[in-house]
Amino acid sequence: MPAKDNLHALFYPETVAVIGASSAPGKVGNTIVANMIGAGYRGKLFPVNPKGGEIEGLAVVSDIADLPRGLDLGVISVPRQFVIPSLEALAEIGAKSVIVITAGFKEVGGEGYHLEQKIIELCDKHGIALLGPNCLGMMNTAVGVNASFAAGHPNPGSIAFFSQSGALCVAILDWALGENVGFSKFVSLGNKAVLDEADMLEYLNNDEDTRVILGYIENVEHGESFLRQARKTCLNKPVIMIKSGTTAAGAKAASSHTGAIAGSDQTYTAAFHKSGVIRVGDVASLFNLAQAFSSQPLPKGPNLVVVTNSGGPGILAADSADRSHLTMAGLSQKTIQRLQEFLPSYAAFYNPVDIIGDADAKRYRQTLDVVAEDPMVHSIMVLLTPTATVEIEKTAEAVIHTAKKCGKPVFACFMGKNRVRKARLMLMEAGIPCYAFPEPAVRSIETMYEYYLWKHRPEPKYARIKGDKERALKVIRKHEQRNEPEIVEFEAQEVLKAYGLPTPQTSLARSSDEAVAAAEEIGYPVVLKIASPDISHKSDVGGVKVNLNDAAEVMSAFKDITARAQRMRQEAYIAGCLVQEMAPPGVKEVIIGFKRDEQFGPMLMFGLGGIYVEIMKDISFKLAPLSYQDAFEIVREIKSYMLLKGLKGEEPVNFVALEEIIMIMSQLALDLPQVWEAEFNPVLVNHERAIVADVRLTLHLKDEQ
Ligand code: ADP
Ligand code: MG
Repeated sequence: MPAKDNLHALFYPETVAVIGASSAPGKVGNTIVANMIGAGYRGKLFPVNPKGGEIEGLAVVSDIADLPRGLDLGVISVPRQFVIPSLEALAEIGAKSVIVITAGFKEVGGEGYHLEQKIIELCDKHGIALLGPNCLGMMNTAVGVNASFAAGHPNPGSIAFFSQSGALCVAILDWALGENVGFSKFVSLGNKAVLDEADMLEYLNNDEDTRVILGYIENVEHGESFLRQARKTCLNKPVIMIKSGTTAAGAKAASSHTGAIAGSDQTYTAAFHKSGVIRVGDVASLFNLAQAFSSQPLPKGPNLVVVTNSGGPGILAADSADRSHLTMAGLSQKTIQRLQEFLPSYAAFYNPVDIIGDADAKRYRQTLDVVAEDPMVHSIMVLLTPTATVEIEKTAEAVIHTAKKCGKPVFACFMGKNRVRKARLMLMEAGIPCYAFPEPAVRSIETMYEYYLWKHRPEPKYARIKGDKERALKVIRKHEQRNEPEIVEFEAQEVLKAYGLPTPQTSLARSSDEAVAAAEEIGYPVVLKIASPDISHKSDVGGVKVNLNDAAEVMSAFKDITARAQRMRQEAYIAGCLVQEMAPPGVKEVIIGFKRDEQFGPMLMFGLGGIYVEIMKDISFKLAPLSYQDAFEIVREIKSYMLLKGLKGEEPVNFVALEEIIMIMSQLALDLPQVWEAEFNPVLVNHERAIVADVRLTLHLKDEQ
């Protein structure tokens, strides 16, 4: 990352040169100059063009070399072949930051890719903070900088926005102008050759003009710095992001369930979750939340009160609160008594507080003041249906009045469109989010409350797990030398033991006699499994027989399994059978696994095992390292959690034992980067204990790269 001062120079430039400035209206090189002037820029602005002359009343500099040394910002908008020479000339005069508007680089591949590499090299060498290439530009409303070719200037505000898509920047700017929403900084990232989302997060975290950060990203290339910066920033101010454009690239043909199920979208969800980033799916939610977060305090608890002038919408709001993490506040006796003093007897004094269709602004105001004072209330929603008698604008004033003094988040939901238009604007201007329907209002309050909880949760605690790494590495090296990426059950058990993971007693039997001897030693009933380094899905070849109760059964199972496996997999080397302790009846099968993500590292997964994995896809994900809290959550986030908790008087499974296995797996993933994927399927668990009854590890062999 370039020097910090250079980022400051980018956002607060005192000298700006537009390379490729043009006098022809409509040309990008003209729009940028006009935008800088139109935004009220007060620093020194230099249009640069070899043709000289005058642009927008400013004398044109014909050569970059004639610009002042240590220029703060150069904006390059020239044909592609002139970009590198311009950048070199800017580096020559010690320019601190550069925006490359020009497109045709990495995004087109080929020559473009190499040119972009050249940009990166130059910036690395000279410490230049560079935005783009292939971007729309940047705005900082605090100092009248609009170094972009967008149409229009946003108002100053407390929302910062950065986006990987220039088109989305344009759309959002237009929307913001229509809604009167202001921005602190507005950044089009383009190809992110140098500056990326992590740099923006770091910078905006310290930007006093910014209260909320919005981002649109299509990919993250440096997972680790993203996680670090996002986490740091989210503890300070909310970061809300849209992530789109999930590509199939990198989704290699995966050999395990973990690999197949853990698509890159889940990885992003896990990454956002880990760092506290609020992820939304659409632009409308992005803005609803931006407005809510930028203007309202966070709710300090889940209790919502709804004040309404009509029953139906009140019930809709209550229903949608029920489905959320919010609760409808129970009002105190004192509050109810106070309400009874002035509300008509036919009003509803319980939450939702229905002050009836003939409510005027005064009744709204009195009610709001009373409920806002109730300590059981953490957030307030004011619902208004535009009946014939209601005083719409005056009610808006009442809402503003209460919101200003109560210190709790207040949300308005003025239903409809035309008749509430003016009131809505009044509310928005006063910083009170106003919605047309209750559901999105509830969602906004819920998200703010969740962020509040995240921000105030205890510091994550990590376990200190020390495995016998050397012992595990021995097995891994052996496979690497033999060029075998798959480590199947028997040998993989050695790795598990090195990390103290619970495995069923198992021995390898080369003959049916050895199998019987092993079974007697272990104690009946036992399980027999085909033992072959070439067969990793044993059941597929009829290679697993459970519940064998005596010598005769073991003997015949051995013959059966080995003969069938040899028939079905003629090329396979068959070592014999594993004889294994059988888990008691009634155990539940779960799957615990991890898959390595190129950007974000190992991602752990947990779900119901066996056939359910593929059918139900009921899996939850977390990025390593997992804290105790993460392990606690991951086993409870799946839909089938209730099954594990036990149905109809069944005892719950030993969750602590499962969490322990998950924590150890997280450690194993960090200790052994050679292991690309791991899958314990099944882990058999009951109320007493959990054991890893099957395991497969997949190595990342060097020559595969
Ligand atoms: P595969 O290679 O087919 O995945 P597994 O070792 O997972 O083979 O065995 C298949 C199934 O057999 C498991 O899902 C589980 O239902 C059962 N099973 C395997 N080992 C045991 C065991 N030790 N105790 C009880 N059941 C087992
Ligand atoms: Mg299995």
